[in-house]
Amino acid sequence: MTGLTHPEDGIGYYTFDQFTRLQRAVNTARSLVPWLRVAGYIRGAQSERVTSSRDGHIGLPPTWLAAEEINRLLAELNRWAELEDAVNDEFGAWLAWELVRETETANARWAIEDRTHRVQHMRCGACNALTLRYHPPRHAEDIVIVRCTDPSCRTVMDEAMFAFAAHLIEEENKQREQQRLDQNRRRRGTRRTVPPNDLQVGA
Ligand SMILES: [Zn+2]
Repeated sequence: MTGLTHPEDGIGYYTFDQFTRLQRAVNTARSLVPWLRVAGYIRGAQSERVTSSRDGHIGLPPTWLAAEEINRLLAELNRWAELEDAVNDEFGAWLAWELVRETETANARWAIEDRTHRVQHMRCGACNALTLRYHPPRHAEDIVIVRCTDPSCRTVMDEAMFAFAAHLIEEENKQREQQRLDQNRRRRGTRRTVPPNDLQVGA
């Protein structure tokens, strides 16, 4: 949205059409965010990991980072009681449009998978086995569920548990990355102390 102006016909800084898109984005975000948490772990593609620590994250899937961003925007929008209030405020209208863009982009890129899938790289929070399975939402109000397939466990990992587990993985990745950096530093240090080739001396 460029140059915020009050449209002649609409709500706050939004046209009715834009406001409808915002309402749809807020609704979509509710089911999309739990899915985005899981999505990067059921495709299994290692290349779909953020490998740099540029933004403070290591080894988390881009879908995960999209979920974080959408959640952050939703939380920021919470300062207004109603969406109508947000779009009547210049900053709120801008913020809400960020949410629309993020949600529509993520939804187009990583639409909710409607079949069950094995979850990879993520252990069950209860029995610690690689037994998790993703179950798609069955209707509009339903949310994504990840459940342990072990008959004696059957633990359901809700979004909070899944988020916690992913953060643990990220911590491990960070520690591994730090160890790697330390090792490289030590190796470089050793190389520097190796005396230069002395065959030339006095030749
Ligand atoms: Zn389990």
